[in-house]
Amino acid sequence: MDWRGRQGSSNVEDRRGQVVKGAAGLGGFGIILYIVLTLLGVDPGSIIGGGGAPQTNINPPKQNQQYQENATEKELRQFVSVVFKDTEDVWTEVFAREGEKYQKPTLVLYTEATQSACGVGQSGMGPFYCPQDKKVYLDLSFYQDMRTKFKAPGDFALAYVIAHEVGHHVQNQLGIMDKVQRLRGQLNEKEYNQLSVRLELQADYFAGVWAKYMQGKGYLEIGDVEEAMNAAEAVGDDRIQKKMRGTVIPDSFTHGTSAQRVKWFKKGFANGTIRGGDTFNTNDL
Ligand SMILES: [Zn+2]
Repeated sequence: MDWRGRQGSSNVEDRRGQVVKGAAGLGGFGIILYIVLTLLGVDPGSIIGGGGAPQTNINPPKQNQQYQENATEKELRQFVSVVFKDTEDVWTEVFAREGEKYQKPTLVLYTEATQSACGVGQSGMGPFYCPQDKKVYLDLSFYQDMRTKFKAPGDFALAYVIAHEVGHHVQNQLGIMDKVQRLRGQLNEKEYNQLSVRLELQADYFAGVWAKYMQGKGYLEIGDVEEAMNAAEAVGDDRIQKKMRGTVIPDSFTHGTSAQRVKWFKKGFANGTIRGGDTFNTNDL
């Protein structure tokens, strides 16, 4: 992806180096009051606690004690900032076409753990979006995880991940998130999981829409789309479950299979419109 020398986003909140006290003990709280949207098929309940109750103390670094980033981290930070700006530009344009104003989210960079309005986020759960505070949370070490754990290397693979999380923000602004949240109490676990799959596949579709615009602006390089599709495939529920527990349990899918994730990303890339991405009213997921 062509990104060097391009402008970054002014909506990046750098919390790297801040310490969240008590985060380690939160695993047992259990009750999740808010949905948290991750990229991966992890169970947020096992990592996040407490529904945003103020049970943690965050120690901000003392003044003049900024996080000391190394050269690799600096480059990654600049890269994700440009990608985030690209998502802002694309969605501003897409919303404007519909006569709407895009409300830009915030990208929070953190290390290890941080407080969100949805509870404590930890690196292990991968990047996530919290609808309550409209922020995307990312620990840059995930870039390495993609390369090693998920075998999805490449800068555009990480760009896809960010675009997927921003896709959840787009859903939030469109009111789709609220509808899903309202239905949550009326559905059993299996039904809710199916709804969750539709939500996740739509976020993949929106990532594809973003990629289409990036292509139109001439920022894509050869192999970029393949990197993104490889990443979408790597984070399918079936792939992750098979790796983690050796078997695949379709009813427990919350994100969709590898094939479905690639399919909807490709659809978004082909269509480039919000309208073509209705994953909720189709039998053909
Ligand atoms: Zn997601």
